[in-house]
Amino acid sequence: MNLCIDSDCCTGCGACVEHCPGHVLSMGSENRPCEKYPDDCWYCGVCAIECPAECITVIFPYLIR
Ligand code: SF4
Ligand code: SF4
Repeated sequence: MNLCIDSDCCTGCGACVEHCPGHVLSMGSENRPCEKYPDDCWYCGVCAIECPAECITVIFPYLIR
C-alpha cells in the first residue's frame, strides 16, 4: 500500500479518486477509497493535496535526502 488513509476522518467525498492522475484509486466498501491499482502509483501526492479532510498520507517507498 502506498497511502495511509484515515477512514475515521474520511467523508467519502471521492475527491482523491477523482483527482488521481493515475486512476489508482476507486471507492470501495463503506464509501471509502481504496488502492485499486497500487502498482500504478507514482507518489505524486495529488490525492493528499486534494483531500479536504487531510486524511491521506503518501508513504514513500524509499528515503529522499
Ligand atoms: S500519490 Fe498520486 S498516483 Fe498515487 S494514489 Fe495519490 S494521486 Fe494517485
Ligand atoms: S478525498 Fe479524503 S475525504 Fe474525500 S474520499 Fe478521499 S480520503 Fe476520503
